[in-house]
Amino acid sequence: MNENERQVKQITLKSEDFSKWYLELIRKAELADYAPVKGMMIIRPYGYAIWENIQRLLDGRFKASGHVNAYFPLFIPESYLQKEAAHVKGFAPEVAWVTHGGSEELEERLAVRPTSEAIIGPTYSKWIKSYRDLPVLINQWANVVRWEKVTRPFLRTTEFLWQEGHTCHESYEDAQAETLRILGIYKEFVETELAIPVLAGRKSDREKFAGAEMTYAIEALMSDGKALQMGTSHNLGQHFAKVFNIRYEDRNQALQYVWQTSWGVSTRLIGAVVMAHGDDSGLVFPPNIAPTQVVIVPIAIGNWKETVLPVAREAEAALAAKGVRVSLDAREEFTPGWKFAEYEMRGVPLRLEIGPRDVKQGQAVLVRRDSRAKEPAPLAGLAEKVPAVLADIQTSLFRRALEFREANTREAGDFEGFKEAMEAKRGFIVSPWCGDEACEDKIKEETMATIRVIALDQPADKAPGLCVCCGRAGKTVAHFARAY
Ligand SMILES: [Zn+2]
Repeated sequence: MNENERQVKQITLKSEDFSKWYLELIRKAELADYAPVKGMMIIRPYGYAIWENIQRLLDGRFKASGHVNAYFPLFIPESYLQKEAAHVKGFAPEVAWVTHGGSEELEERLAVRPTSEAIIGPTYSKWIKSYRDLPVLINQWANVVRWEKVTRPFLRTTEFLWQEGHTCHESYEDAQAETLRILGIYKEFVETELAIPVLAGRKSDREKFAGAEMTYAIEALMSDGKALQMGTSHNLGQHFAKVFNIRYEDRNQALQYVWQTSWGVSTRLIGAVVMAHGDDSGLVFPPNIAPTQVVIVPIAIGNWKETVLPVAREAEAALAAKGVRVSLDAREEFTPGWKFAEYEMRGVPLRLEIGPRDVKQGQAVLVRRDSRAKEPAPLAGLAEKVPAVLADIQTSLFRRALEFREANTREAGDFEGFKEAMEAKRGFIVSPWCGDEACEDKIKEETMATIRVIALDQPADKAPGLCVCCGRAGKTVAHFARAY
């Protein structure tokens, strides 16, 4: 480590340049690095540890709701992808093709999966014969490739990691119930574990998944006032069942097409955590998904190795025994001050400082990353105190994000007001919409805002009011925003 690297790594202030702050932070906090192929991303161990926590917490929820994991191939024959017209049209501009195996040209091009409906559908048509085979509730953890023109680490990359669920049901109602069940799991997961409040609702027709009957999504507001789609759940109807001939014998011995759903969240969630909670000093990780929840920094003064270090080791062991993800940084080549700044930048939720004076007093000093509040705590009770503080940080981060969203959600009664609000303040604008795509297009053209969701909980007691764009009667109330 040279002298230069010992300096606290300076990052651009978030308040000065959000986009630059995000890109610098991703690299300096060692979440990800750029790859030789443009638009691809190397996820470093610190970033991957977050993905592992997300996987573990989400996979537990999938299993608890009856889903199982499987794995399908990376390559899809071109003829399979061509079968569903809307699907292929939607994905064609982004597909990467394999044309050669070694030096031999392939008879049929192979798509690198942009999503797996076209490989899973034909497989299901072999597996499903009877209503007794339903429902099929399969998820896979995988990578997909979409050849994107404009990319940004975690938010939009050519290759990304995700999970994709693909289910089959006996009826439309069952498929719809599954679509909404997963939307509910996503919302609960993101709010509980990532501490990010989300709106759950359906997409307009122009924003829906290629080949879906109906797309639902969870949407969050990032701290720069732009919205981010955090996950989608699609009711596929029978579109794919018909093209891939997925049929079953129903309870009256009649042949029926199955009803399908698909749903996914991706490594984009990591970008969301960075943008929703980070500040001028760097990352702020919610404890539930933080790779390291607590860092212990011994203050190296005098004979600290004999006095402070054993006490710090004891605290580390006591916290680890409680299941806390804790690390002790006893490196001598870095000053405590350097370490404080480094772990703040890396978003570690809680820091424990222990110096010679603290040892004499039988205490450690707890410093929270979210509020920077400092408080002494008796060493004897650390194993009880620390998990309670971590839980409080988790709920405080959620509350802060929710207050931000509420402060940045506005109503606009007319188009002039809409344009002004979107220009000056961004955030969500809640307005009645007539349901006409012409209005949706005009709004996008003039304000760069799109319909993020049509919230599930629409006001039931009154009519939506007049469309913010054309002034005709509104059909629904929609949440508009500029989005990533
Ligand atoms: Zn309208």
